[in-house]
Amino acid sequence: MNCLLCGQTTKSELTFSSLFLLRDDCSYLCSTCASSFEKIGEDYCPNCMKRGLSTTCQDCELWCKEGIQVSHKAIFTYNQAMKDFFSRYKFDGDFLLRKVFASVLANELKKYRDYEFVVIPLSPERLLERGFNQVEGLVEAAGFSFQDLLGKREEKASSSKNRSERLATEIPFFIKDETSLPKKILLIDDIYTTGATINRVKRLLEEAGVLEVKTFSLVR
Ligand SMILES: [Zn+2]
Ligand SMILES: [Zn+2]
Repeated sequence: MNCLLCGQTTKSELTFSSLFLLRDDCSYLCSTCASSFEKIGEDYCPNCMKRGLSTTCQDCELWCKEGIQVSHKAIFTYNQAMKDFFSRYKFDGDFLLRKVFASVLANELKKYRDYEFVVIPLSPERLLERGFNQVEGLVEAAGFSFQDLLGKREEKASSSKNRSERLATEIPFFIKDETSLPKKILLIDDIYTTGATINRVKRLLEEAGVLEVKTFSLVR
């Protein structure tokens, strides 16, 4: 078959491990494209996986002061190859690309057996414009389902506010039905940058009575 990113023919290499595990890790990508993505290495903040340190980072300490215990996992760094990937997947709307990380995501998500998966939603306007929720696409391609618990209101343009004003603003997310919340949730997004969105939604769910909320993103 052809590489989903560059179109070159991929040779499926029958290595011992691919035979043994009965799967082909890179079947959607050629080896060049597959190796352009960089996994987060050994040194990172134990709470949010920020790279280059091995103790809790300042951001996570700030979240802690706001009453949010960050518990985040991510797989890849946001390098150039990943930026290119998201520009094609999200902004050009190439829905086929949801499969690119299917097997690596499946390997990670299967570790959260007791958790219900919940995806960060788009506003109805954004969903209409893009045609799909990019996070739902990634999770579905990896073979998992998720609960449709959250909604998002359309945000007003926020360019006139500075960062702290933006962070202090009421979050635009809401819980659709508070009567049937699961006990443990894995909250999933595509990219973790400041963590503002995902950590505030985590707190929203915890305040509504969810006992444990962990967070996850493909990229950090
Ligand atoms: Zn390729
Ligand atoms: Zn951190």
